[in-house]
Amino acid sequence: MPLAKNVSTYLFETKSIKSLKDLIRQRKKNEQDYVVFLIDHYFSDNDLFKDYIDVNDLVLYIDTTDEPTTDQVDELTKTIRTTNIELPVSLVGIGGGSTLDITKAVSNLLTNHGNAEDYQGWDLVKVQGIYKIGIPTISGTGAEASRTCVMMNERKNLKLGMNSEFTIYDHLILDPELTKSVPRDQYFYTGMDTYIHCVESLEGNHRHALADAFSREALNLCREVFLGDEDMMSDVNRQKLMAASYLGGSALANSFVGIVHPFSAGLSMTFHTHHCIANCLVMNQMGEFYSKWVPEFKEMLKKQKISLPSNVCKGKDEATFQKLYDSTIIHEKPLGNALGSKFREILTFEKVKEVFSKI
Ligand code: NAD
Ligand code: ZN
Repeated sequence: MPLAKNVSTYLFETKSIKSLKDLIRQRKKNEQDYVVFLIDHYFSDNDLFKDYIDVNDLVLYIDTTDEPTTDQVDELTKTIRTTNIELPVSLVGIGGGSTLDITKAVSNLLTNHGNAEDYQGWDLVKVQGIYKIGIPTISGTGAEASRTCVMMNERKNLKLGMNSEFTIYDHLILDPELTKSVPRDQYFYTGMDTYIHCVESLEGNHRHALADAFSREALNLCREVFLGDEDMMSDVNRQKLMAASYLGGSALANSFVGIVHPFSAGLSMTFHTHHCIANCLVMNQMGEFYSKWVPEFKEMLKKQKISLPSNVCKGKDEATFQKLYDSTIIHEKPLGNALGSKFREILTFEKVKEVFSKI
């Protein structure tokens, strides 16, 4: 069990984005000091953050059409290194799980040497990265709270993060106003990531009273948001989901995910399906493993009138199923957490293929 560490400081308040100005001012001690903003491309035509950016700061808009890759992180790190000989005094990540994760990875790489893929794994990062501020604009992944930053490594057919205490944000600005503009489907899929994280944590073998407490409360909040009578995107519900996301991410710092995430990673590696929708696709077919939870998940889908894509894996050839299997079964820790050390005997190629065939 990795030593748990939490985000050092955070501000959770509507319109707390305004605190960014002072926070940055405190980081800048000398005239040449500068900050790098990594902002989701959705906000590139938007004035929302312009008041916080000085002329000598560097702004990098992150294309989140596809999820983060190790190559993308290497490229962004190179851009920062070549733009200025000095390192920035802070990074500011503004966006969803993809942008938050990229910011974490770039922070680690700027002070540790080599490439992003060298640090995919557990506790491989050697020294503290650049100070980083995280500002989520969509709730659910818990990336703001967790000790990992997930990246796809196409060469190794691997979706894995830099699991390290150095990956954890130094400061968070949790402003539920910022999630107002999220499209409804995306809001649901990403919100369900919290639900699924907590189910996997509670159903795992690495149970832990603290992780359980985080998970249970996050699940309660998800139920209020997605099964309550109020609009799932009302002001109150956006606050609740932001809190749930943070708690879900904190739960994972004390536990592991389970079966859904490895299967979801298989879909992401094979078809580039985005993490949160991939999780929903898998959860929908997890009746055999998570029978206590799947009916509730389906109820939430129905209540929010969300329809999932179908026939994603239909008619695929044997080589595709092999790729799906390989990129699922590689995730030993979560599968072991869910099914014990003999997980390969349960998740045979045929069983894995059977699950994917239904998606
Ligand atoms: P995302 O960052 O991939 O963004 C999804 C979409 O929402 C994008 O099109 C983006 O432009 C848009 N968007 C974001 N904020 C918006 C806003 N306020 N208004 C309108 N559009 C907005 O979304 P995500 O689902 O939060 O993140 C998925 C990523 O998180 C995956 O790469 C996954 O691997 C990672 N993840 C990380 C952890 C972790 O602990 N580090 C945990 C789970 C998932
Ligand atoms: Zn997840």
